[in-house]
Amino acid sequence: MKPAEILTYIRNVPDFPKEGILFKDITTALKEPKVFKAIIDNLAELVENMPIDNIVAIESRGFLFGAPLAYKMGVGLVIIRKPGKLPADIYREEYSLEYGTDALEMHKDSLKKDENVLIIDDLLATGGTAEAACRLVNKTGANVVASLFLIELTNLSKNAKLSAPIYSLIKC
Ligand code: AMP
Repeated sequence: MKPAEILTYIRNVPDFPKEGILFKDITTALKEPKVFKAIIDNLAELVENMPIDNIVAIESRGFLFGAPLAYKMGVGLVIIRKPGKLPADIYREEYSLEYGTDALEMHKDSLKKDENVLIIDDLLATGGTAEAACRLVNKTGANVVASLFLIELTNLSKNAKLSAPIYSLIKC
């Protein structure tokens, strides 16, 4: 299945979570076995030649793609979580969203210096979330090789300042 067909399974929800946001709802794609499989297979193809030690997935929808992709690629999985969820020593980074502000946290010992990392999330909009994730990874001394997204909103991402190359399956 090609990315253009995958896009037809992603539902557009106007004015969620607030007026003016067109929310890309991936639940309608994930519930279809052939679409979920195609998403993971296509994402794996995009990054197949990268020297990756760990996938770093961003809570929460990044987990849905990061976990199966790490399993398929045979690499480790590290999770970046919303505040207050991780039990051990953490690094913390503030960031701004397309709708609001928030913070992300990662365990200090989750990555080693010079490890190569692929950051993954469901969607790239302004890039604030992914850049906060890059900053967290950099604090550990690991390298962000690339960031990977199922969907890229090109109107917003054109102004994104990400310190690593961007790979996305569906641009809209
Ligand atoms: P940003 O930091 O602006 O790149 O926003 C990306 C994050 O916000 C991702 O974790 C997305 O899940 C979420 N997000 C932002 N805009 C949308 C949207 N239009 N539809 C679905 N999720 C979105």
